[in-house]
Amino acid sequence: MAETKYIFVTGGVASSLGKGIISASLGKLLQARGFRVTNQKLDPYINVDPGTLNPYEHGECYVTVDGHEADLDLGHYERFLNVETHKINNITTGRIYQNVIMKERRGDYLGKTVQVIPHITDEIKRNVKALGQTGSFDFVITEIGGTVGDIESLPYIEALRQLKWEMGHNCLCIHLTYVPFLAAAKELKTKPTQHSVKDLQQEGVQPDIIILRTEHAVSEDIRHKVALFCNVEPEAVMQSIDASSIYRVPLNMQAEHLDEVVLRKTGYDPGKVPAADMTSWNAFLEKLEGANEEVRIALVGKYVQLQDAYKSIHESLSHAAAYCNRRLVLTSVLSDDLTKDNIAGTLTGQQGVVVAPGFGSRGVEGKFEALRWCRENNIPCFGICMGMQVMAIEFARNVLGYADANSLEFDERTTHNVVDMMEDQKTLINMGGSMRLGAYACQLKRGTKAREIYGKDLISERHRHRYEFNHHYQAEFEAHGMVCSGTNPDSGLVEIIELQGHPWYIGTQFHPEYSSTVLRPHPLFLSFVGAAIENK
Ligand code: GLN
Repeated sequence: MAETKYIFVTGGVASSLGKGIISASLGKLLQARGFRVTNQKLDPYINVDPGTLNPYEHGECYVTVDGHEADLDLGHYERFLNVETHKINNITTGRIYQNVIMKERRGDYLGKTVQVIPHITDEIKRNVKALGQTGSFDFVITEIGGTVGDIESLPYIEALRQLKWEMGHNCLCIHLTYVPFLAAAKELKTKPTQHSVKDLQQEGVQPDIIILRTEHAVSEDIRHKVALFCNVEPEAVMQSIDASSIYRVPLNMQAEHLDEVVLRKTGYDPGKVPAADMTSWNAFLEKLEGANEEVRIALVGKYVQLQDAYKSIHESLSHAAAYCNRRLVLTSVLSDDLTKDNIAGTLTGQQGVVVAPGFGSRGVEGKFEALRWCRENNIPCFGICMGMQVMAIEFARNVLGYADANSLEFDERTTHNVVDMMEDQKTLINMGGSMRLGAYACQLKRGTKAREIYGKDLISERHRHRYEFNHHYQAEFEAHGMVCSGTNPDSGLVEIIELQGHPWYIGTQFHPEYSSTVLRPHPLFLSFVGAAIENK
């Protein structure tokens, strides 16, 4: 069997060029040629993981099946490749240092002075190689966060320099840069690219492939110019032009022969490897781009000002809409602004409403209003994690008549704690780990809508929360039509609630949005969007 190939993706000139999408696209193309591929993200910040970051900082926190709170790029990787990622797929500087310091305390370094080179760089290399050493992958594609030239990313670039030296053609560097268009001169400019490649070279790394992010097509002349100034073959200078959808990028990069050049440079004969079979991908894209009729969904949450804060929910809805032959029109509604008086004005015309996950009490009152509106007016409504908890509280207040019903998270003195911390969790808190993270099994109740949607009895979904539906209220809820249709088989914790007699009113304690992919749209989102379409 061929050795694992390591492909690094670095960025220059500016951040937010879409390294994650380029990495995922390359992964997709190689996978579609029959290779086993995984994507990894190295984040140069000092946080040990992004779990504690405010979504306004880096967007959504993604969660892997093994319970790692990860960078949102892992979401792109899973949505594109349809393959699960794990803790090892996302490393931060904080974790690298934490590991090194732990080893130092344990005496592993035998009295040596612990330094960035070799100890930090060795730890980085160990974490990259760990993926290849599983024997499960032909290609490990590692994206280095940040921009070349940053102080933070230096150790990563140094680790890359060493790996290229050790591995020869089994290790490549793809450098993604930006070519700005000067409107006054009507020209694309390559100077920033040349400078960022110089930065990379100064740190000892010669890129093998350069991808130019651009808003206008890049001419042959420009490609040759970049090739000449940056010591890269002209065929290895490619463009990545603005695309109507991120899901078009793999096809754009296929047209630029990215996969072919990567194969050639890693010692394969591209002619002897089957071409990338993108049939099912194309079928999805046709639906996504070809839909004429729209479906209008409102997303009610407290971080809606930042586009990336609910990335996975947005993508899941867009997958579902495409498969339902609809164009998704998503309206973000800041829950802080919602009141009894403006709720009708805000949500009238929306065919479905998603109430978002969240932490803390800001914006919760607005979520109650949105839920009440949907419940009373038969609007399809999907409550996710905190959205589900607020669904339960709204029901307890307005249907069961418990005016002070609440979650322990928002009111520690409520006499009707329909959302609470369960007894065994309280002891866990003292040990420092109170979040329920990662995939847990869920048993679906026969005869419920959830069971019908999934079409099976046992499912597994990812969690990221602290509080739970208080099962002491289960019987009373069910007697009034709010059924607990999914529970964890080991702990009995309630995972799904649904309102009988309503067209679609379902809350999930877990996050289905983390597992919707292009080729495997999530059944709950499909069903929800279907119900929204019915609601004309
Ligand atoms: N804040 C709630 C909890 O901790 C919900 C979390 C979430 O929506 N992800 O249980």
